[in-house]
Amino acid sequence: MTTVRTRFAPSPTGFIHLGNIRSALYPWAYARAKQGVFILRIEDTDEERSTQAAVDVILDGMRWLGLDPDEGPYYQMQRMDRYRAVLREMLDRGLAYWCYMTPAELDALRERQMAAKQKPRYDGTWRPEPGKTLPPVPEGVRPVLRFKSPQTGTVGWDDKVKGRIEFSNEELDDLVIARAAPEGSADGIGTPTYNFCVVVDDIDMAISHVIRGDDHVNNTPRQIHIFRALGQEPPVYAHLPTVLNEHGEKMSKRNGAKPVTQYRDEGFLPEAMVNYLARLGWSHGDAEIFSREQFLQWFDLDHLGKSAAQFDEAKLRWVNAQHLKAADDGRLALLVGEQLRGRGLPVPDDARLQAMCALFKDRCATTVELADWLVMYVQTPTAARSSDEQAKVEAARPALQDLTARLRTAEWTREAIQQCLKDSVAATGLKLPQLAIPVRLLVCGRSQTPSIDAVLSLFDRETVLARLQEA
Ligand code: GLU
Repeated sequence: MTTVRTRFAPSPTGFIHLGNIRSALYPWAYARAKQGVFILRIEDTDEERSTQAAVDVILDGMRWLGLDPDEGPYYQMQRMDRYRAVLREMLDRGLAYWCYMTPAELDALRERQMAAKQKPRYDGTWRPEPGKTLPPVPEGVRPVLRFKSPQTGTVGWDDKVKGRIEFSNEELDDLVIARAAPEGSADGIGTPTYNFCVVVDDIDMAISHVIRGDDHVNNTPRQIHIFRALGQEPPVYAHLPTVLNEHGEKMSKRNGAKPVTQYRDEGFLPEAMVNYLARLGWSHGDAEIFSREQFLQWFDLDHLGKSAAQFDEAKLRWVNAQHLKAADDGRLALLVGEQLRGRGLPVPDDARLQAMCALFKDRCATTVELADWLVMYVQTPTAARSSDEQAKVEAARPALQDLTARLRTAEWTREAIQQCLKDSVAATGLKLPQLAIPVRLLVCGRSQTPSIDAVLSLFDRETVLARLQEA
């Protein structure tokens, strides 16, 4: 059996968003599931639009999600010599030819075709054929290189997502594979074009499965022809349906998609992102919450969805909440500690921070929300009390004093604190909530928390006593 080799080939022309990174998740998972090799290739030939900052988001995002490449990153800009060598070879072998049609002539041709209600396409003026006389080479025109594409028959493939796809070769004109060279170039070959570079790379990197967005379906027949011209069978293709945003538009930076690393900063866990993204276009029965290991065990190309998936932030938050509940407290403590530090706040010691995470994580969708809860442990609450809340505090004043006295000498454990609360309500004739709510308001700055004895036990005694005195 041949080794599975997959790739993710992003163009660093904008910050990579969830729709893009899903095109990394599936080839990564497929390589892992098949003990194959996953390759990262940065398609940076659009020099005007490619930026290092965008490359950094790709690398950071993949590292964060644990989508580690086995090979790469390769950069197309560093492979120009190789592309040129293949272009020369194609020229020598008659697989490509010089075309001297000027942009103005091409425009005129297009206009004539449109006027005649024909599809605009190159008309083959410079395509060499046996017995055909080519026009005289014009002065001063720097030619492009065109691929000699088959003109009859069909080209097709069995797409792993979409099924059989076929194109008539008549629809495919001779693709420009190298632009006009700048003046003074040694061999006259200019910059190689996108579809050509992709094929050379997929051949050189021995890619067995191309898993990518379905915006590339129209490129695939052209790429298949170049593969075959170069004596190679094309890889297996799986074209993934688009990811739509919450308004049903194609997800893109232009309509508000966030860079993938922003989700890290907003407190999402990488395993939750992998889980959510995996489900955005793939399913395993009705499994909704699963670990990375389960995903890799289950993943195959046969259960990729055929229709566009729609991003749903509420569902992402729900998935994250499930993973947060299951997450190790030591790990959460590190993440939350970082967030508190980032807000300029002190960080409780590790054992206590872990206990806090354990106590509050059930009620949070993100680690940012978890950090929001824990702020009360390191900063005196400042929220103003409503008049209703203030009335509750007033009504509990004797009980609060009684409780303060008991807490001063009690053992500082959850059980002992619970006992103090019980004793104080017994001594003052209140019901437990009549005391617990004022205690929450004073110590925590809010009226609802997990069990108050557990919450208090994670404070320093002195902090609790001082805040109760504020009554
Ligand atoms: N660079 C292309 C893109 O970002 C992907 C090309 C491919 O996967 O073949 O859309």
